[in-house]
Parts: sequence; C-alpha cells; structure tokens
Amino acid sequence: MDVRSQISMVFHLDKCIGCHTCSVACKNVWTDRRGAEYMWWNNVETKPGTGYPTKWEDQDIYKGGWEKNGNSVSLKGAGKLKGLKNIFHNPHLPVLDDYYEPWAYKYQDLFTAPEGDDQPTARTVSLVTGEIIDVKSGPNWDDDLGGTPDYARKDVNFKNLTQSEQDSMFQLERMTLHYLPRICNHCLNPACVAACPSGAIYKRGEDGIVLINQDRCRAWRMCVTACPYKKTYYNWNTGKSEKCILCYPRIESGQAPACMHSCVGRIRYLGVMLYDADKIQEVASCDENQIVTKQMDIYLDPTNPNVIEQARANAIADSTIVAAQNSPVYKFVKEWDIALPLHPEFRTLPNLFYVPPLLPSMAAVDGEGLYNSTTTEKLWDGIEKARLPMNYLASLFSAGDEEMIKVVMKKLMAVRLHRRGSTVGDLEKARIADAMAEAKVSEEMAEKIYQLTSLASFDERFVIPPAHKEEAIEMLESTADAKGETGFGFSLKPKRGL
Ligand code: SF4
Ligand code: SF4
Repeated sequence: MDVRSQISMVFHLDKCIGCHTCSVACKNVWTDRRGAEYMWWNNVETKPGTGYPTKWEDQDIYKGGWEKNGNSVSLKGAGKLKGLKNIFHNPHLPVLDDYYEPWAYKYQDLFTAPEGDDQPTARTVSLVTGEIIDVKSGPNWDDDLGGTPDYARKDVNFKNLTQSEQDSMFQLERMTLHYLPRICNHCLNPACVAACPSGAIYKRGEDGIVLINQDRCRAWRMCVTACPYKKTYYNWNTGKSEKCILCYPRIESGQAPACMHSCVGRIRYLGVMLYDADKIQEVASCDENQIVTKQMDIYLDPTNPNVIEQARANAIADSTIVAAQNSPVYKFVKEWDIALPLHPEFRTLPNLFYVPPLLPSMAAVDGEGLYNSTTTEKLWDGIEKARLPMNYLASLFSAGDEEMIKVVMKKLMAVRLHRRGSTVGDLEKARIADAMAEAKVSEEMAEKIYQLTSLASFDERFVIPPAHKEEAIEMLESTADAKGETGFGFSLKPKRGL
C-alpha cells in the first residue's frame, strides 16, 4: 500500500443556483490577462446542454482521456506516437469557435457618440482581432436553455438514452435543467500529465494538485487534446498552456480557492482524501462497469491504524491525517456514498465528486402526491418518473450504471422524508422508517447528511491541514524571492482580495 494524500472537492448540485459567481471570481483572480480572455478555468454549464467548449464530452470528436488496453490503458488521441502523427495539424484540438471568440463592449461610444435621433450603443469588439463582431456564442451560451433544440437536444449524454427517454425529457411539462460547475479534476491518473512531451505537467506530491511548469512548456498542446474535461487551455500570448491551479497560493495560506470562497449556494466542500497509489493502474484499466466502485475503493479509511501507519511511513504529516479524518469529502464520497465522479469512464480517476440533483425527482413525488403514498415502492416510483431520466444522470456520473444513481437518489430522498417527518410531521412514522431502512440510511446518518448539506459552517465545508497555514508565508516568500512570479506570468498575490 502506497498511501498518498489528495485535496478533493464535492459539488452538491441541488444547491447550485447557476449564478456564475464562482466563474467570475476565478476569472478576476487568474485569467483576466492577455491571451487568457477565452479561458474559464471554472465554468458553470446548464444540463442538458452542449457545454464549454461545445460538446467537450464527445471523445469521438476530441479523443481525450484513456482507453482500455488489456490490463493497461493508453491515451486516446495524444501521446508520443499519436501526437507525432498530428504534429503539424492536430484535428482533435478544440478551436476558438468551440470555445467562443472573447469580446468586450465599446463603452466609450456611449459617451463620445455625436448627438442624434437614436440612442448610442456599446458595440461588441473582438478581444482577439479588435474588430467589431456579431456575437454568436459564449462560454455559457446555453445558460438555462434546458429545452432548446440547438443546445439541450445536442447534449452528448443523449447518446445513451432511448428515443422515447429523450422525447419524454422535452415534453413541456417535464422539461428541467440543472447546473454543472466544472474545474480541473486534479485527477489521480491525469491524461494531461501523461501526454506532455516536455514533462512540463506534474502532480504535486504533498496534495495532488496538477500544475503546468511554464518554463518547461513548449506549446505542444498535447495536454489540451488529452484532457477529456478540456480543462487545459492554450494561451496564444505567452505560447504556453495553463490550467486551474486549485488556487494553491490561497490554499497554502489557509484560504479556500476563489471559486469555493465566493460560492453563493455554498455547494462546494473541500477536504483531504488518502488513497492507495499502488492501485491506480488496476482501477484505471478495469472494466467500465466496475470503474466507479473500484475508484471508490482506492480512497482509504483515514481512521484505520494500518492506513495511518503506512501514511506516516510515506512522510504524510499527522496534521494531514487528522484533516483526512475530518474531511467533508470523505463523508459524502465514502461514508455516505452519495457523491460520484463526473464521467468516470474517461479513466483519469477525477477527484471532484458530485451529489446528483434530486430536485427533478422530488418534483415528480410532490406533483403526483407520492409523498402520501402508502408503500415505499410507490414512493420510489417518483425516482423512475423523475424529469431527468436516471439513464441521463448515469451517463454523467456512473459510467452508465443506472442502479448506482437510484441508490444515491433513495438515500437523498430518505433524508428528505426524515426531515419532513420531524418538521412538517404529516407522514406516518412507520413509512418513513421503512423507506429509510430500504435506502440504508439510519436516523443518525440522515441528520449528519442534513447538517452538512444545509447548516454546515465554512470550517466544516473547508478542511485542510493547519500545517499549510503555518508554512504558507515561508512558501510564498521563498518562491517569490526565487522567481518574483509564479511562472504563469502573473503575480503570486491575487489581484483582488476575496
Ligand atoms: S481534469 Fe484534465 S487537466 Fe485536470 S488533471 Fe485531469 S486530465 Fe489533467
Ligand atoms: S457560485 Fe456556487 S451556486 Fe453560483 S454558479 Fe458557482 S457553484 Fe453554483
């Protein structure tokens, strides 16, 4: 057992209101620079929808991630040989149109326009060419358009849905949407790292954050092809690739990443996970129908004496072990089994986990009066009638395993029933007990899930080792002394305090 530590996050999708505050906070701190105008290290998509860049989930187009090769894996579209073949033209790279042409407004025209009969307007001007442009797309162009033919109906996840399932999603009274915030997953098996011919991308030993060394990057852009989440970006001004750095200068000084700190819905949870690095190859190359279960097995119980001993042998500090024991991520992912990785079939072993949205199921339960149904079977019927078919959520979060999504939904619903029982009090106690027993949720667990979901303080949602706080200033000063800059071409200090 090779115990390592990893900083991970959980996103609770029922709580995301799609306000994009996270994206704007990230943009203001990190990508408000020349060459980075089109980049959104944090973006929030509407699902169903095509996302940013358009159809990023379709690996038939972009050839990102890994494919199984016997007991091993190989990169789908990047890597030394495949990369060499496309050295002068890489057909799998997203182009600017797949992202969008960034623009600004000519606000000065509002003040300097000559007097006339019409209102002056601030026209859109391309931040790439400086020309006036007609804006045709943007990073969240399909925002809230959960039923439109141009966006929602082109969602890549529909590949796995039958025609009748697809049609049912677009009946007017069933239409629904949810938001999907995305950043780099700081994967355990990062395709971006493996694809880089210059060895410029690395995973930090102490916390697993994946970074690009700007001095070593030679603009091959293999990482852009290889990342199936399209979370590395090419900066046309510096001629280097760059990506989400999980706000490591903030984390090192005890502050949450900008996206998490600013999150209005408080949907984000950040904590340490211990994992067994010896199992990475086995998990990444297992059969697709086992990949989620096996990935969950890779994360270790931080209270297990054997794990603690092995962690200490690997020089993991006691403060990190304690942080792992109090990790909110561990609770959602391992103790309660209600948070799942996004597109685990890409085989990068992502370290962001999502609590899938229950609200479309609850709408069915409420709408049909199933709350008051006499059997738990009828209640679970609400899950089947959910406005978002289980198959759709399975395509996003469980490599197509519908049953896995249903188990999570039942647990989330059991927590609702438990809370409704103790607050509204209009449900029979025996029926609540039946439903909770079937969902394998005890009263104590239901209370804990409710507490962390709804009432948690910032310190309960953000748990990192205190050692980071103590060492932060030294780390910042020594890096700043040595280089003056992070190497990203911007100052270590965020431009605006959040
Ligand atoms: S999400 Fe993409 S960029 Fe981030 S670590 Fe994984 S493969 Fe690399
Ligand atoms: S700030 Fe939070 S609630 Fe708002 S869009 Fe981002 S993740 Fe969702």
